[in-house]
Amino acid sequence: MKKSILLTGAAGFVASHLAERLLSEGYRVLGVDNLCTGRMKNIEGLLQHPDFTFLEADVSRELPDAVRMQNWEWVMHFASPASPPKYNALPIETMLVNGEGTKLLLDICKARGAKFFFASTSEVYGDPLVHPQPESYWGNVNSIGVRSIYDEGKRYGEAMTYAFHRTHQVDVRVIRIFNTYGPKMDPEDGRVVTNLMFQALKNEPMTIYGDGTQTRSFQYVSDLVEGVIKLMNTNYVWPVNLGNPGEFTILEFADLVKKVVPTQSELVFRPLPSDDPKQRKPVIELANKVLAWEPKVKLEDGLRMTLEYFKKFEI
Ligand code: UDP
Repeated sequence: MKKSILLTGAAGFVASHLAERLLSEGYRVLGVDNLCTGRMKNIEGLLQHPDFTFLEADVSRELPDAVRMQNWEWVMHFASPASPPKYNALPIETMLVNGEGTKLLLDICKARGAKFFFASTSEVYGDPLVHPQPESYWGNVNSIGVRSIYDEGKRYGEAMTYAFHRTHQVDVRVIRIFNTYGPKMDPEDGRVVTNLMFQALKNEPMTIYGDGTQTRSFQYVSDLVEGVIKLMNTNYVWPVNLGNPGEFTILEFADLVKKVVPTQSELVFRPLPSDDPKQRKPVIELANKVLAWEPKVKLEDGLRMTLEYFKKFEI
């Protein structure tokens, strides 16, 4: 008998890649998504797969009995708007999916003896005062700022996960995902990777927010998925950073985009959104030690692979 996984956010960028990998690992997957930011295009290829089923539903509300009562090996919670413009457009939904959604999915785990896997984020570190960020850092989050819906939503989700772990002995895994990119990203998600690459493709001005000296670390999606699979195969229950420690200013990132995408675009500077973290880079010693994991794909190579996907869109 194949083991079954309930995967939320399955039509989204990250979980659609994960679904594909889980199927190749021999799991049966029920993908759930309410399509508020996910796109059916991302899972078109999976709908034919005999071990993949899709359910359009909002996991912030109780799922149908037939779903809740199944013998799940894992419930993996990847559903959430994740780019700043998208979670700002869906503030209440973002809080609910990470808050109530996480609680309802943990109820299923408790009732069915399933393991719970929570996709958290580097945003739990907020605008970090410690650099680079280890898992032991508690973060610097503005609880009423424009990012709080996502940051505090994910922090609540982590807290709920450990409440169920401590109170009901639910077996849990938590990852903190740093900026991730690759094919299947939504071209309109408003992130720096999609904005700059599409602007370059269209020879439009490339928008730099602030002075471009803020930093980010970019991880290719296949590296992230590899880390997820490795964590599923351990007994480690505490949060693990998954990200690429290569750190780039946004200006350096724009230069790299120009190298990968031949373009006549010029840079234009726009106001920095409030609470935009000044720096971000993961410490990955823990993932290295517990999972024997490290990212393999260099940013330039990953951007070239992503470009092949973006080129298929009508420009
Ligand atoms: N950014 C930018 N131009 C854009 C989009 C984003 O300069 O067109 C900046 C943004 O202000 C942030 C960084 O790039 O400092 C990464 O933004 P993104 O939305 O990709 O993710 P974040 O890490 O902020 O959640």
